[in-house]
Amino acid sequence: MHEYPDAKAVVRALEPDDPVILTRPLAAARAARFFVEKFPGKAMYAVKANPTPDLIQILWDNGVTHYDVASIAEVRLVRGLLPDATLCFMHPVKTARAVREAYFEHGVKTYSLDTLEELNKIVAATTAEDGTPAADLQLLVRLRVSSEHSELSLAAKFGVDLFDAAPLLQATRQHCDALGICFHVGSQAMTPFAYVQALDRVRAAIAEAAVTVDIIDVGGGFPSAYPGLEPPPLEDYFEQIHRHFEALPISYSAELWGEPGRALCAEYSSIIVKVEKRRGDELYINDGSYGALFDAAHVDWRFPVRALEDDLREPEAEFAFYGPTCDDADYMKGPFMLPADIQAGDYFEIGMLGAYGAAMKTAFNGFGATEGAIVTDEPMSSLYRGDRKDPRESDNVVNLR
Ligand SMILES: *Cc1c(COP(=O)(O)O)cnc(C)c1O
Repeated sequence: MHEYPDAKAVVRALEPDDPVILTRPLAAARAARFFVEKFPGKAMYAVKANPTPDLIQILWDNGVTHYDVASIAEVRLVRGLLPDATLCFMHPVKTARAVREAYFEHGVKTYSLDTLEELNKIVAATTAEDGTPAADLQLLVRLRVSSEHSELSLAAKFGVDLFDAAPLLQATRQHCDALGICFHVGSQAMTPFAYVQALDRVRAAIAEAAVTVDIIDVGGGFPSAYPGLEPPPLEDYFEQIHRHFEALPISYSAELWGEPGRALCAEYSSIIVKVEKRRGDELYINDGSYGALFDAAHVDWRFPVRALEDDLREPEAEFAFYGPTCDDADYMKGPFMLPADIQAGDYFEIGMLGAYGAAMKTAFNGFGATEGAIVTDEPMSSLYRGDRKDPRESDNVVNLR
């Protein structure tokens, strides 16, 4: 892939008709090093957030050794790229065939579950042909926790209720070398309190079950920064998690794990789009909800945007977007702020698409072709640059910290 200083240079060089996915390897490397150095436990990358091989290699090169995989295809992908990585199969509903292949062919020892059926499935699928059960399993019971502090809920689908957790923890303890409890507070958790609350529930589950727990896995949910969604510093999350982990009634050598997806890759990609038509304050652009902008359409996510033309003079105004397909649902209400005189033929950049954006493109309606380019400038916002203001500190207070 060709390297450019920034999106404007890409537009000048290519004048592209198709969207161009920009990648920022330096931003992903910086995020990886931040988690490796500062997260008070083991940070594993949740591959589903962005399974691009180049990104996975960057994370590995910067110290991320563990990968949370959700399907056998992700197991094969990461194992093919990284023969020495530790893979953890953290989707609580798997097929027996997937577990068997993961365990016997790819060396996957770590699995999550939220029912007795899934426990029995994992135990059977990892038993050798001569009937010897696996002696090296790490099994994590997924606990249902609240998603109330997060922008995207993951509370409805997976996780055993606290009320039913004790018998499942006790049964799982019989079949594993290491027993863990995991949860997911929902994606883009806007306060560390989400984890504090979840760890309180973990405490209750351990007390009720009276089992020895070796692993606490606080899942994903670590935020990135978007317009209107400016979280407190990640260090606050790490500090709260560490403090409440230390206070749990668990074995002295218990490990703390986390599964960041979004936080590790959001800054990695953005996209250059072209305005094909303007109708009032609606811009028809060449990417949309079937492309990299699913979340902009379906959960009204407001990604940051910036114009790439030097001749736009008017102040910013609010715009909504239509994507290129013939579907009315290919609509992103925003509002997105762009110069009021933007018009057909102009290009702009949509930022922070590295997580659940660039990875979700389809070819519906024959759109979806993209070029790719590497850029070396900063992402539109960053949690890792060291210059971001804590949003809790008011603007009119001199802060000496
Ligand atoms: C999606 C997912 C993650 C990553 O979540 P983010 O909010 O992107 O950090 C982590 N763990 C599991 C089990 C997931 O399903």
